[in-house]
Amino acid sequence: MSDEIARLQELLETGQRLSMQGSYDRRVPDKKAVPYLMQSRKGLLKLIGEQDTAEIWLLLALAEECLLNYPAARRCFEEYLARGGLRSKKNLKRLANLKEHEKKWASLMLTPEQLEGLGVFLEHQLAESSCDHTQRLTETWLKSHLKTKPALVLEALQKYGGYCDCEVLANVC
Ligand SMILES: [Zn+2]
Repeated sequence: MSDEIARLQELLETGQRLSMQGSYDRRVPDKKAVPYLMQSRKGLLKLIGEQDTAEIWLLLALAEECLLNYPAARRCFEEYLARGGLRSKKNLKRLANLKEHEKKWASLMLTPEQLEGLGVFLEHQLAESSCDHTQRLTETWLKSHLKTKPALVLEALQKYGGYCDCEVLANVC
């Protein structure tokens, strides 16, 4: 069984390496990384049904974090701590950081993939014409990509410094 953990950990580490993410302000993982991360997560979830250990919960938390699934990453990290995971200063800070990201994404009402899509759109549009100091382009994108009304999302973007399209791109995306 520990061979299987080692194999899944290796998949996870390959995924982390290919993700091109920094430790701060994580972005959507590079496409090359996703199959490794998904495969690792799938195996870990299966394993956790057979042996419920802190070690596996920790790996699962890392996989979810790399995939930017913050609610799942936070839950898995709590399971890890509940099973005797090290309550070091560093780990408690990590938990606080996961909670903060979870809150941020929930309040933005966008998925990391959606925010990336919005960023690509704005970058393209603002390369052709300059910002008119409104959220016009952002609103256009939200209208065509979200099922819900964009008003709340536009307001949430302002909370993160995105009062106009160029600010949404620079400060939020
Ligand atoms: Zn602007």
